[in-house]
Amino acid sequence: MSAFADIILPLAQPCYTFAVGEHPNISVGDAVAVQFGKQAVYTGIVRRLHDEPPKSGRTKSIISRLYDTPLLSPEQIRFWEWMADYYMCTIGEVMRMALPTTIKPHARNVAEFEPYAPRCERILKLTDAVPKGDEMERMRRRAPRRAALVEQLREAGGELPRCAVEADAAVISALVKAGIVTIFERECASQFSPISGASLPSLSAPQTTALEQVCEQFEQHNVVVLHGVTGSGKTEIYARLIADTLARGEDVLYLVPEISLSQQLVARMRLMFGERVTAYHSKLTPQRRTRIYTDLLRAPSGNFVIGARSALFLPFARLGLVVVDEEHDSSYKQSEPAPRYNGRDAAIMLAAIHGAKTLLGSATPALESYANTLSGKYGYVALGERYGDALPPQIILSDTIRAAKRGERKSHFNTILLDKIEERLGRGEQVMLFQNRRGYSPYIECPECGWTARCPHCNVTLSQHASGASLKCHYCGYMSPAPRRCPACRTAEVRPMGFGTERVEEEIQRIFPTARILRLDGDTATSDAAYERIISGFARHEADILVGTRIIAKGLDFERVTLIGILNADNLLNAPDFRAGERAWQTIVQMAGRCGRRNGEGEVIVQTSDPQHALLTLAAEPLYEKMAATILAERKLFSYPPYTRLIRITLRDADAQRLATTATALGGALRERFGARVFGPVSPLLDRLRGEHIVEIMLKIEVESSFARAKQILREQIDALRHESGNRKTVIICDVDFA
Ligand code: ADP
Ligand code: ZN
Ligand code: ZN
Repeated sequence: MSAFADIILPLAQPCYTFAVGEHPNISVGDAVAVQFGKQAVYTGIVRRLHDEPPKSGRTKSIISRLYDTPLLSPEQIRFWEWMADYYMCTIGEVMRMALPTTIKPHARNVAEFEPYAPRCERILKLTDAVPKGDEMERMRRRAPRRAALVEQLREAGGELPRCAVEADAAVISALVKAGIVTIFERECASQFSPISGASLPSLSAPQTTALEQVCEQFEQHNVVVLHGVTGSGKTEIYARLIADTLARGEDVLYLVPEISLSQQLVARMRLMFGERVTAYHSKLTPQRRTRIYTDLLRAPSGNFVIGARSALFLPFARLGLVVVDEEHDSSYKQSEPAPRYNGRDAAIMLAAIHGAKTLLGSATPALESYANTLSGKYGYVALGERYGDALPPQIILSDTIRAAKRGERKSHFNTILLDKIEERLGRGEQVMLFQNRRGYSPYIECPECGWTARCPHCNVTLSQHASGASLKCHYCGYMSPAPRRCPACRTAEVRPMGFGTERVEEEIQRIFPTARILRLDGDTATSDAAYERIISGFARHEADILVGTRIIAKGLDFERVTLIGILNADNLLNAPDFRAGERAWQTIVQMAGRCGRRNGEGEVIVQTSDPQHALLTLAAEPLYEKMAATILAERKLFSYPPYTRLIRITLRDADAQRLATTATALGGALRERFGARVFGPVSPLLDRLRGEHIVEIMLKIEVESSFARAKQILREQIDALRHESGNRKTVIICDVDFA
């Protein structure tokens, strides 16, 4: 029996040692209540048991052990440890995010602390005193409602949950008084039970080949990339592998970038695997998430969870397969708060800990993943054709400057696009228009003096909304009415510059007055329900045109869409980010994937001022290998991932002077150790946010050198700086593999 326990607390703190005290049969992974701070009581997790008294003298004792089984398996603890180490945060920060709030309560003091109690249901049960024969006859005549309940219970085998019977309280209490029925409480039944059997569509010949190749590749690789063009039926291939895994009695985790955008997928999986397919994500209520967590804890393995990246933290007993769908998607990366992890990369680690396989699927694999297939680290399977009769969409690059010169442009649309919209609408088909910005216009400008409206708290221009009537900051939400006349020179009227989805909607409506238009962006999809309403409305053909931002590029499947307009490819390519080219390519190919999915010929018009741009011509083909080779050569030249690993160190402070001093000191200290691998400190484009000043330092570590060692040095330098300067006010954040 050990005397001490190292406890993980849900805080940005290291583990603390507590005395085991009167809880000798405590084990690793157990949840316990401990006091931390003056009086506060937290739920902690036992990480390690040992007999070494802490150097700091007196230790507090564990107050109580919570729950009758450990909350964490040894695999989960290893996963948490890896995550804290790799992404440079404390294991407490991992705990804070990993466990649903209801299961890890905290309180101001012992009296107020209340552990999670699983919901119980009341069960009505017949006793041995059930009336028989004549007695029962008599009851039927005198108290028909009581008799009805007795019969209902008897038919159900003697017991039923209270909520399943209609009888009112008086009837039940009369039967209880007569000793015929007893009431007891029982924990609600787990919603998990192994899934057996699935009704799967039969695969086409190319799909069958791809599936066989995936299985072969899994014999040599733990990770396989399935590169299947949009509409090739990757989902059907996943389904086969999932069914096999479940049949072996192992668990399956199917990760999607954003679950709220995946309702179509969840529905499809339920058709194939039944209602026991569980969806898990951070938008569920904490109660619901806790319920899923505790149910899974008790369930036998053979479960199927579809989830966003937070599902990685569920307690799988025997994980056999992890599918990471749309693995290229940047929303797999959590940027705030810590742990700033990439869901795809963490999935690969989780699977490795369990000895499970990982399948990365995409029509546009991330270059990091692709490079790993080239080096032989991952397996690679390509599926190059669409399912059935669907042809690949045709992508046409349309020159905006030339169109403007020739008078072939109306507001923000080239006439070729307008003509095609008219033609498609005439045939009763649907159109999607993509613009990478929401709102009316990204900024307003005075044509005389060049004044632009800027946010007083953040260093960005204010975007125009509500048909131009109001101005809004997309970072902090600051709002103000839009001026008509320039407040600086007072001579000219300000003009909207550029255009967002709101303006597209307005102008398209003016050009096609009878067309029915829906808009899907951050301003209209304010909740899952609103999102669902727009998507299903469009799917039912209640609208002809769907205007939207990047969220309309993600995995949606509409039968009647045959034309896509990408209104401004330039701002995709010119984003200030080393991944801009790759992302632009992915967005165009993914958008193209939304049209002509069943039989029609899909067409995509890409408006750009630079139709010769190498990446655009490659997107038009679309030739993945060539695109990848082009970008990889560039990345190598400039030492970007996948040839290096990046750590972005962000420093934030309301006091600009103190920030500058700290950043210069840290930059200098790092340069001493890392030399030319340090970039900065520099002011990012967005150098003031919500009233705080921001400075960044970038660290590029070659993949050949030890990343763990580099992070160790970085940690030491940050600690030393804090120690020497006594400055604890400047916030310093490390974002590993930032994206
Ligand atoms: P991807 O995810 O690769 O873009 P999907 O899995 O969504 O492709 O498949 C595209 C369309 O083709 C879907 O409507 C799907 O139902 C259909 N489909 C693909 N494979 C099959 C199959 N084997 N049997 C029946 N329908 C299929
Ligand atoms: Zn702002
Ligand atoms: Zn002016």
